[in-house]
Amino acid sequence: SLKCGIVGLPNVGKSTLFNCVSSAKAQAANFPFCTIEPNVGMITVPDERLTKLAEIVHPGRIVPATCEIVDIAGLVKGASKGEGLGNKFLGNIRETDAIIHVLRCFDDENITHVDGTIDPIRDKEIIDTELQLKDLETIEGRLSKQQKVAAAGNKDAKVEVTVLEAYKEALEQGKNARIVEFESKEEQQAARNLFLLTAKPVLYVCNVDEASAKDGNDYSRRVEEIAKEEGAEVLVIAAKTEEDIAGFESYEDKRMFLDELGLEESGVNRLIKKAYSLLDLQTFITAGEMEVKAWTYKRGWKAPQCAGVIHSDFEKGFIRAEVIKYDDYIKYGSEAAVREAGKLGIEGKDYVVQDGDIMHFRFNV
Ligand code: GDP
Repeated sequence: SLKCGIVGLPNVGKSTLFNCVSSAKAQAANFPFCTIEPNVGMITVPDERLTKLAEIVHPGRIVPATCEIVDIAGLVKGASKGEGLGNKFLGNIRETDAIIHVLRCFDDENITHVDGTIDPIRDKEIIDTELQLKDLETIEGRLSKQQKVAAAGNKDAKVEVTVLEAYKEALEQGKNARIVEFESKEEQQAARNLFLLTAKPVLYVCNVDEASAKDGNDYSRRVEEIAKEEGAEVLVIAAKTEEDIAGFESYEDKRMFLDELGLEESGVNRLIKKAYSLLDLQTFITAGEMEVKAWTYKRGWKAPQCAGVIHSDFEKGFIRAEVIKYDDYIKYGSEAAVREAGKLGIEGKDYVVQDGDIMHFRFNV
């Protein structure tokens, strides 16, 4: 399953955020190095379409998509050299598909900052530097080996050396690997195979105080400027307030509180949606009496590949897919009515599945 890792300096609000996005509970405390083991939780991906469809289909249950989330604590200056609890955590990051980088954008004298002052840009650079140093270590280890293999005439090694050298140059300038682009398919593949930490897609989360939940503050605006230069995404969230939002039992209470804050949607929901799109993930839906269910696939996948998400037999024996567009399902109010209106698509193996498609696969067993 797909994994997002939460990183950031101690006391920036990682555990707080983790607690409200995931079902698992991490300990949030005003104490650096508090979270020692990486905490793994499951996130359910909010999707209003499932609820709307359920109102039509009345299924036994609704099954949303899920994504794994890991709270990676213990990153401090010097982590790549084994300071604090550092090196171990860098290994945890390697196993994730995307990084959620939390930056402290709130003032609070009662919450210690490891570097004494509030400065999200400096904090970001501290974490980036540690990840970059780790990547450089990976690259240098590989480069000397692959250079020898390339010199002996190996083509794949030559490609890899080109990739390693390009990365090395960028990292030595304090840049993240993700800004380096490769033209050939071979180079792109070789780049992926390195699993560099700073090549992973990143989402910066500015953790602000409640008053700035809607419009952000000067700290978060500075982060936005820097992220823009990197082409990275930013999300403003008041993590401590999100804890309160998550605490409301009823939808109405939650809605009222969000309205007071001027928020259309909880930060947690926005975070999950962004992380999902960061990973280039989309959802197709199956709607039946038993369940209305969201299935996760990568943008660009064709019908048989998507069928394979449900069961490998569906992919092997794929004949065709019957596709209803979400808007049509809602507009006509039932599968039968959609059929009657001639809006049911019969698609073959080359059909590229679109986000929100309601799919029914026909296959040979
Ligand atoms: P972590 O070390 O990054 O996981 O940080 P925690 O989530 O444990 O938070 C450290 C402390 O800061 C806790 O006491 C939190 O309650 C507090 N905290 C987290 N977010 C905010 C915030 O937005 N505003 C304020 N004032 N405190 C916060």
